[in-house]
Amino acid sequence: MKYLDEYRDPAQVKALLQEIKGLVTQHWVIMEICGGQTHSFLRHGLDALLPPQIELVHGPGCPVCVTPLEQIDKAIAIASRPEVIFTSYGDMLRVPGSNTDLFSVRAKGGDVRVVYSPLEAVQLAEAQPDKEVVFFAIGFETTAPANAMAVLLAQKKGVKNFSLITAQVRVPPAMEAILQAEDCRVQGFLAAGHVCAVMGFHEYLPIAETYQVPIVITGFEPVDLLHGLYATIKQLETRQTKVENQYLRAVSQQGNTAAQQSIQQAFQPVDRKWRGIGTIPQSGWDLRPEFAAFDAELKFEVQGLLTQESPLCIAGEILQGLKKTVECPAFCKECTPQTPLGAPMVSSEGACAAYYRYHR
Ligand code: SF4
Repeated sequence: MKYLDEYRDPAQVKALLQEIKGLVTQHWVIMEICGGQTHSFLRHGLDALLPPQIELVHGPGCPVCVTPLEQIDKAIAIASRPEVIFTSYGDMLRVPGSNTDLFSVRAKGGDVRVVYSPLEAVQLAEAQPDKEVVFFAIGFETTAPANAMAVLLAQKKGVKNFSLITAQVRVPPAMEAILQAEDCRVQGFLAAGHVCAVMGFHEYLPIAETYQVPIVITGFEPVDLLHGLYATIKQLETRQTKVENQYLRAVSQQGNTAAQQSIQQAFQPVDRKWRGIGTIPQSGWDLRPEFAAFDAELKFEVQGLLTQESPLCIAGEILQGLKKTVECPAFCKECTPQTPLGAPMVSSEGACAAYYRYHR
């Protein structure tokens, strides 16, 4: 297949649904890792067409949702400084910190700008040498190469007024944390195709083997998602536990090695706190010591801030597949896209935003 509409072809969707119905004999709990996949399931109404034995739970693959509150509060503190131009992807601006958000900082006169790439922020720093330009480097393996390249470029050009506040996270350690939890219900994974396009899938082989769990690398269109689900259910029904690649048009086992090299040059693995979930060992990337001059947290000395989550928000349990958005008592009451209490109601990849938008 070559064109996008072929991956949305109703006849193929219907045929795959029939095949899934013919295959399933019992209840299975399957997690789609990526918030983009969650939105696609709900936007196309696929979840409602699945046999009732298939329970989808939504994973932690929403970068905005898992960015720790401490980093958001630090970003707000830095963005409030008069000498700073604070740059970020648009989604982060409305994410609530302990007391406020980046949009409110902008409304009060802070220079907070949306950019589409960290390289734009480097250009801005070059153009405004009298200002400190800071980029909010959040995200999974998909955003890490561009963030790494921005630092490498700034170093090469001698741009000293550019820095990052980092909250980079990695998928495989989060999958292991989910599988290690005593109350884990997940029996199979749809892994995120775009993450694997960058990193390949060699990291998933030991996870499938150790935890005896099927992992199917899956794309984002309806035919991709149903094809990925079919492969996962087939493994579950036949008691197989291996890694399969549904997203062949984008993913190879080794991934994008040039992108991986950029990441390794600029970042090193670290233990990382995930919002609502807690610290997961080796689940993040931070700047290597030789790039400390580009670390905004060191440059602006924003340590020791006191954070406070909304007591109503159960986002952490949702992101681990333990609860559904509709089980949150604040959903569509205190918490709406206009009055978000947690990041999953803000992000374009957040499960709560998906349920709100598609009226579940
Ligand atoms: S609906 Fe709002 S309060 Fe509830 S879990 Fe989602 S973001 Fe948190």
